[in-house]
Amino acid sequence: MKKYTKLQKLDEHEKYWRDCGRCELAQSRKQVVNWRGSPDAKIFAIGEAPGRDEDEQGSPFVGKAGRKLDGLLYKAGLRPNEDVFIANVLGCRPPSNRVPKVGEVKMCRQRLEWLIMVVEPTVLLLLGGTAALRIAGITAISKWQGHPTVVEMAYRQKIRTYPAIATFHPSYLVRIGDNIEVKKRMIKTIKKAKEMSCD
Ligand code: URA
Repeated sequence: MKKYTKLQKLDEHEKYWRDCGRCELAQSRKQVVNWRGSPDAKIFAIGEAPGRDEDEQGSPFVGKAGRKLDGLLYKAGLRPNEDVFIANVLGCRPPSNRVPKVGEVKMCRQRLEWLIMVVEPTVLLLLGGTAALRIAGITAISKWQGHPTVVEMAYRQKIRTYPAIATFHPSYLVRIGDNIEVKKRMIKTIKKAKEMSCD
């Protein structure tokens, strides 16, 4: 049987979701935003949803929050495009960057799970309240950020568990003006994710 490379599988994924119309975000988005980084990464970072820049450019975390994320990753000893695979809970931008609706998250779950199944990471790094809540059921991010947990992901009837850890969203750091304490906590959590990825 023919073996497909990860890139070929990601290409299939891209083609499958390109014209997705499962939820109303299909009406307002410019394009479906899937991933950036390395398909061979052990760390799979998950944000909330594309913003304006991501919707324009078709890659996640390429705007202000993305630059902040890259800076944090470097500080934790990781190269954003080599050591991490980056995606979002949602593939489409919600109008005015509003919080994703539960139905939208449900409709987009298969897209994310398919990406995770292709990449086969050893840890999920959840960025912000939406990813923490929708992936790991974490309701109080400030309390639980930095605490390792385990999450279940399904794909085509197969259920797999993944170690996961949540931290604040990089855009929170932008909003609060690079607060040094918050930044330190985030870097510490990303370093922890790096350790977990090698366990
Ligand atoms: N915020 C996110 O959660 N994801 C992006 O891709 C950009 C901003």
